[in-house]
Amino acid sequence: MPVNEIPLSLNAEQLIQKMPGVVFQFYRTHDGHMAFPFMEGGGMVLTDIDRDQLADDANAALEQLTGADFPKLMSAIERSARWMLPLTTRFRLALSGHKTRWIAVSATPEPTYLGVRWSGIMMDISDQVTEEHRLRKLCNTDPLTELPNRRKLMVHLTNLASLSSRHGTPLSIMMLDIDHFKQLNDRWGHLQGDDVLKQLATLTQSLLRSEDMIARLGGEEFMAVLPLTSVKQCHQLADRLRSFIAQYDFGLGTGQVTMSIGVAEYRCGEPLMNLIERADQALYNAKDVGRDCVCHLP
Ligand code: GH3
Ligand code: MG
Ligand code: MG
Repeated sequence: MPVNEIPLSLNAEQLIQKMPGVVFQFYRTHDGHMAFPFMEGGGMVLTDIDRDQLADDANAALEQLTGADFPKLMSAIERSARWMLPLTTRFRLALSGHKTRWIAVSATPEPTYLGVRWSGIMMDISDQVTEEHRLRKLCNTDPLTELPNRRKLMVHLTNLASLSSRHGTPLSIMMLDIDHFKQLNDRWGHLQGDDVLKQLATLTQSLLRSEDMIARLGGEEFMAVLPLTSVKQCHQLADRLRSFIAQYDFGLGTGQVTMSIGVAEYRCGEPLMNLIERADQALYNAKDVGRDCVCHLP
């Protein structure tokens, strides 16, 4: 039978019930009253929801949204209403007996004499959000040590530098590099070298404060970012770290692994590359004066 002759087995209303999401109309009146006069469909979203209540008054239900989702949704609604732009956002819904679900909303506004009316759809996108989180973590994490990678660190450093510039607060960084790591690999094998990198990651993370971030830049090079820390404090902390590592037994006997560290403090408004270059130069100096030490430029 030709495709265009297959009879429709459902009318529009029946079709909506079978959809894997919800079709709705949503009102916001001039005085801020909100309601869903129409809400039909399938999928997770409608189980557990009192549709009669929502048809009458949605304010109380919306105020129950998790954490920052309520203000975020309200500002998306406000923007859509003000500029008559499509409403596109997502929020979490805590349904009893289920894990919190992520819901995506997409709706078109139109002005009415009562206020604004949106017609749109809502879909449960929890699986997609879980996958997004997994990919984002993958993209920001060094697979060997599970530390943040260079990309994640640079985003973090950029944010901290702008806070530091705005508030005039100190911000310092450390460049850390294992000494003679090539020899360590040659002597103990690459797998043992990998194990040292992993242990070093755990160790340095445990010795830094929770607000500090240490990342693996690549190879045997790491960088730590320390907010609210002057170069003097950073130098002291780096020296404690260095000394701890030098005395730590990574399974090869104590004193087999040492690190050289260069530290530098952010100068308000400077390009981040300048800061990184100063720390790099300080690290180079630390290598030059004999390794297993901390340096910063005068
Ligand atoms: P220096 O004190 O001057 O820093 O000497 P170094 O030997 O540490 O530096 P170099 O840059 O000459 O060598 C770095 C070595 O790090 C070479 C490379 O094989 C090793 N390396 C880089 N990435 C990894 C890794 O993921 N695992 C292991 N086991 N070794 C690595
Ligand atoms: Mg090295
Ligand atoms: Mg190196």
